[in-house]
Amino acid sequence: MRGPLRAQLIEHRFVEFVPEQLEPNTLYISMHYATVVHSCLCGCGQRVITPLTPTDWHLAYDGETVSLSRSVGNWSFPCRSHYWIEHSRVHWAGAWSKDKIHANRAVDLELKRRFYEDGSRKPVLDESDAQGFHRPDETAAGWRRRLRLWLSRR
Ligand SMILES: [Zn+2]
Repeated sequence: MRGPLRAQLIEHRFVEFVPEQLEPNTLYISMHYATVVHSCLCGCGQRVITPLTPTDWHLAYDGETVSLSRSVGNWSFPCRSHYWIEHSRVHWAGAWSKDKIHANRAVDLELKRRFYEDGSRKPVLDESDAQGFHRPDETAAGWRRRLRLWLSRR
C-alpha cells in the first residue's frame, strides 16, 4: 500500500461498458449502469465496484476532476485498503476494526430501509454515516435484492 503522504492522482473515463482489463489509477464511470468500477488503488489489482445510488456512492464531476463520496473500504480484499477520492486525488484512510465495519453495515442497512421501505427517499446521511463501507462484489441491483430479502425476513 502506498503511503498516506503520497499525492496520487487518478484518471476517469466515461464508458458504457467496463472493460475486462482495468488500467491502474483509473475510474471507469458508467452513467447508464450508475456504477463506477476501478482497480483497487493500492495496486493489488482487485476489481472494486461502487454503485451510485442515493444511499451508496455519490459521484461529483466538475468538468475536470471527479470525486467519489463516502470512502472505499476494501475490507474483503487481502489489502484491506481504505481511501476516498476527492477532485481526482486519492486520500488514504486507516483500516477499520471488525466492530466498526459491522456497526457501519447496520447503519447502512437501516438507511436503506428508511429510503426504500418508508418511501421517504431521503438518504439520511450524517457525518458518521459518510465514511462508508464497501461491497466490492455487488452491483446496486444485487444489493437491493439482498436488502429486500433481509427486509422480508424480519
Ligand atoms: Zn488493494
